[in-house]
Amino acid sequence: MAYPNLFESAKQRLKDALQYASISEDAIERLKAPKATLVVSIPVRMDNGELKVFTGYRVRYDDTRGPTKGGIRYHPNVTLEEVESLAFWMTFKCAVANLPFGGAKGGITVDPKSLSRFELERLSRGYIDAIADFIGPDVDIPAPDVYTNPMIMGWMLDQFNIIKRRQIPGVITGKPLSMGGSLGREAATGLGAYFVIKTILPKLKFKKKKLRVAVQGFGNVGAHIAEILYNAGFSVVAVSDSKGGIYSAKGLDIPSVRQYKESTQDLKTTYCKGTVCTMVADRTVTNDELLMLDVDILIPAALENQITERKAPDIKAKLIVEVANGPTTPEADAILNKRGITVIPDILANAGGVTVSYFEWVQNRSGLYWTLDEVNTKLESMMTKETKLVLEIAKKHKISLRTASYVHALNRIGDAIHAKGTKDYYVNGTTTNS
Ligand code: NAD
Repeated sequence: MAYPNLFESAKQRLKDALQYASISEDAIERLKAPKATLVVSIPVRMDNGELKVFTGYRVRYDDTRGPTKGGIRYHPNVTLEEVESLAFWMTFKCAVANLPFGGAKGGITVDPKSLSRFELERLSRGYIDAIADFIGPDVDIPAPDVYTNPMIMGWMLDQFNIIKRRQIPGVITGKPLSMGGSLGREAATGLGAYFVIKTILPKLKFKKKKLRVAVQGFGNVGAHIAEILYNAGFSVVAVSDSKGGIYSAKGLDIPSVRQYKESTQDLKTTYCKGTVCTMVADRTVTNDELLMLDVDILIPAALENQITERKAPDIKAKLIVEVANGPTTPEADAILNKRGITVIPDILANAGGVTVSYFEWVQNRSGLYWTLDEVNTKLESMMTKETKLVLEIAKKHKISLRTASYVHALNRIGDAIHAKGTKDYYVNGTTTNS
């Protein structure tokens, strides 16, 4: 979503963490701006014969730790600044999760819901035609994000293979299983967030057993985390999508909501139409109301800048899990911190998606495919380990989990930058990052 100074807000988080990280001046200098930015025009022949030109972006933020990695977003509000911010967050997310990747992101300014399937396919293939020289399994590896899915990744991979005249499955992740996708990728962001919650929850000492949860955004990530928490015995009382939300004080029957959403593509109608009506929802809520419901855990899983300075004072949840990227503004963050509300930041909470994307890339390159159990066991072990390390840093410096996550990532990125030689080495002969 377009928002003034989004990129500056994103970088503010870095500034907050710098005082606690062992990082050289060179590294700070390197992280101030993206490594490379590509803006492309994508001409698409529409079904009515008209030619329409869409604007697309791909930003590679930093590749010190490996090839860059990040999703592709289709949304009417996509701007270069938003893509830059998302690429910046990906750099830190990959480092928090200890993946051998840097960060990138891509996007097209488009309302995909207004296109036919044929137009959507032509647009997706056109985007790859335009950025093919900028991506590759050793260079930059895209994946799905808001309003893109495995089918779109499949078209993109196919187009890349046509251009390169060979099969290169490792160039894109989140693709269909039949084209080299990984088991567990679709649920990975939600499942990863669940492992983080499971690790942090005992520290928060909630007294009641059945915690109440509200989830904003019921897409790939939101629907999965809602269902995982429902299955784990949490009471998911509210969920929403771009058209609004539903609420039930007794808790929603999430598998039925999901089934209904998938068949109708509209959550609000769950409340007012057909048999599902009688199912659960007491009432509808707006997306703003959902954020301020009396719940224990709030999970923003839609877009950026949903929790603002205006809304933060009225948030009742004790724990916020940022499954979306950038849902909290820095001003709101300061208010939440002061109010003692724990925020699990995006770069930790939603790192499960890119972690299983990494597993997919590893499987593509080795040609050996893993079982779902192998994928999920490895995911749990990595998410739990990194969450514990972030908790230790937060405790040591008495800082928020967000700042601790940035410190954790900065130390790793700083080490990689330092390993290539910094001022300390050239002037003082120091070879380790201090
Ligand atoms: P998606 O397109 O599958 O779902 C997006 C959901 O948000 C939909 O339910 C949509 O209706 C809803 N939405 C859109 N605008 C809204 C608004 N103004 N208010 C409330 N809801 C709104 O996308 P996704 O892949 O689930 O991504 C959701 C968030 O998670 C994004 O911030 C994305 O960057 C982040 N994320 C996704 C992944 C992934 O693996 N897909 C990984 C990490 C982070």
